[in-house]
Amino acid sequence: MKIDHLGIAVPSIEEALAFYRDALGLTVSGYETVEEQGVNVAMLPVGESRVELLEPIAEGTPVSRFLQKRGPGLHHVCYSVPDIEVALERLRSRGARLIDERPRVGAGGHLIAFVHPSASGGVLVELVQESNHPEPSEGEFV
Ligand code: ZN
Repeated sequence: MKIDHLGIAVPSIEEALAFYRDALGLTVSGYETVEEQGVNVAMLPVGESRVELLEPIAEGTPVSRFLQKRGPGLHHVCYSVPDIEVALERLRSRGARLIDERPRVGAGGHLIAFVHPSASGGVLVELVQESNHPEPSEGEFV
């Protein structure tokens, strides 16, 4: 397993880039608007992982509610797993509370699932099944 990406909720991607891009020195590999999830996303590769900046596009969206409740910060950690069905079954059999009982298809065609933060020390967990093709994935945003 590896950490595929860290999702960080911010009120403004442009403002966050003053730190992550300009001060820290990361590079933005792509921007995307995921209407279904109500977010704009900027991806910044870090080695084999990425930072995923999440900016809400409207009130009432999950990331907007997260910002209102908890302020900017770490929104989720995404682990890449070889077989998402096996990973979910293992979690289920050990009593972890799942948000997605079944994998769903995220943007980019990747299979993803979310695990409730109550199961994982307060941080939302995203699982993504490793893709068979090596190109950097663009998808599975929250
Ligand atoms: Zn994500």
